[in-house]
Amino acid sequence: MSTPKIIGKSILFSAPSGAGKTTIVKYLLNKYPNLVFSISACSREPREGEVDGKDYHFLGVKGFKQKIEENAFLEWEEVYANNYYGTLHEVVEKLWSEGKTVVFDVDVLGGINIKQKLGEHALSIFVQAPSIGELERRLRSRSTETEDKIQMRMARAKEELALAPKFDVILENDHLEEACHKAEELVNHFLNS
Ligand code: ADP
Ligand code: 5GP
Repeated sequence: MSTPKIIGKSILFSAPSGAGKTTIVKYLLNKYPNLVFSISACSREPREGEVDGKDYHFLGVKGFKQKIEENAFLEWEEVYANNYYGTLHEVVEKLWSEGKTVVFDVDVLGGINIKQKLGEHALSIFVQAPSIGELERRLRSRSTETEDKIQMRMARAKEELALAPKFDVILENDHLEEACHKAEELVNHFLNS
């Protein structure tokens, strides 16, 4: 993994799976035309309704490993066993060159690593559900994961929660509307700073 040419601002969202970061990110992207989502690459198969090049660049395990060899990633992580996710340099550098603020939705270690690379050019936000029980309820209500995967994600969530203080801000997502408004305040403050 190498250092990018930083020519723009970024906002990083991380959270244990199910905390609500995708929901909050979608809200912000609708509100701010200058915010653009960094489409990650991943090795898993698309879920129903997911589109290649829109939700992720679906590379498969072999294709993903090839990009690692090519040093094409700003950051990558084996988020779950044999499930790789990462951000391609070319994706973010293109968006910055267009004057966009790049929004990342990455796992917790990815968020910490990217923040370390981008420093003050990035705002890192940890989205937190009010409790572990509520996190699990939301993950189940999304109905996208098998029982095995839910167990895997919940086990990981406990480790991830301990890393929340490493972020610039912890955004509590209890009432969704309030969390979205708080996220807007954070974005306004960062973009005007
Ligand atoms: P993540 O991207 O962090 O994995 P999602 O945004 O997919 O999480 O949210 C997980 C589920 O919880 C979704 O079904 C979403 O609609 C729901 N959700 C998000 N925020 C809230 C909230 N504040 N209260 C109740 N349900 C929520
Ligand atoms: P999902 O399979 O539910 O789409 O995503 C699983 C996890 O991978 C989420 O926590 C998501 O934030 C994370 N993720 C998505 N893209 C990236 C990335 O580029 N880098 C890292 N480290 N994690 C990512």
